[in-house]
Amino acid sequence: LPELPEAETVRSDLARVYQGDRLARISVTGRRTVRRHRPELLRTLEGLTLTGVGRHGKYLLLQWEGGPVMVAHLRMSGQLLSAQAGDPVALHTHAVLRFAHAGELRFVDPRTFGELFIAAPGPGLGSGPAPVANAAPGRGGGGPNLTGLAHLGPDALSIGAPDLHAALAGRRAPLKALLVDQRVLAGVGNIYADEICFEARLRPHRAAGSLARAEVTRLAASTRSVLAAAIVARGSTLADNGYQDLSGRPGSFQLQHQVYARAGLPCGRCGRPVQRIIFGARRAYFCPHCQR
Ligand SMILES: [Zn+2]
Repeated sequence: LPELPEAETVRSDLARVYQGDRLARISVTGRRTVRRHRPELLRTLEGLTLTGVGRHGKYLLLQWEGGPVMVAHLRMSGQLLSAQAGDPVALHTHAVLRFAHAGELRFVDPRTFGELFIAAPGPGLGSGPAPVANAAPGRGGGGPNLTGLAHLGPDALSIGAPDLHAALAGRRAPLKALLVDQRVLAGVGNIYADEICFEARLRPHRAAGSLARAEVTRLAASTRSVLAAAIVARGSTLADNGYQDLSGRPGSFQLQHQVYARAGLPCGRCGRPVQRIIFGARRAYFCPHCQR
């Protein structure tokens, strides 16, 4: 399912295709896709120009003229796909945004866990446009000041060692459990947590608080570098084809996975077999020789 690199790929695609264009009409047919508020509320965006597309963790933040923000989360199987007005409508299309010039943006989601909603600025923000740009490095954590997103930790793509150290210090939970906890770090899921732990040479089931300062520094650097490399490769598309970019094309970072779903295959660093481990309700793939 989509994690930060996939969301970032869709974000840049959305900005390239629709930014600066005006929303002519929005139609919502999937009641579950817009479940946080009345679906009709989305129609208040009609006539407005898309002024920017931000992202925090796995959340996409479409910013409109005058300040409103529409949040999109793909969850398990959601896809945002570009289309032209006459194109056949795919099964499981739950919302269609028709732009004045760039054609349609369609939200397709077979499993219906994904969602769209309008987020209002949280208390204390004042009346200006919401600050929805990606979290700045060293910002000290926390999600955007928007309804439904304030619980999020700092964005993983720009995580610094001090923030990560503060999040892990004293915690007895397994490292992987915290890396995928969106309140701790926004954007990392099952696939990238394993790849990040491999890159940092740390065992995913180690107690998070047992990491030395140098290890946390390495972990922060690996988090940024693995996610950045995955963005260059336009994300990971697994056998289920669940993730596609705005044009319906797969990503290619799965070809660079070092450990994820590679149990029994040789580790790219030492040649010994990658192992799968189960701890609590969680699974992880790692190399027992290379990761400590
Ligand atoms: Zn190895």
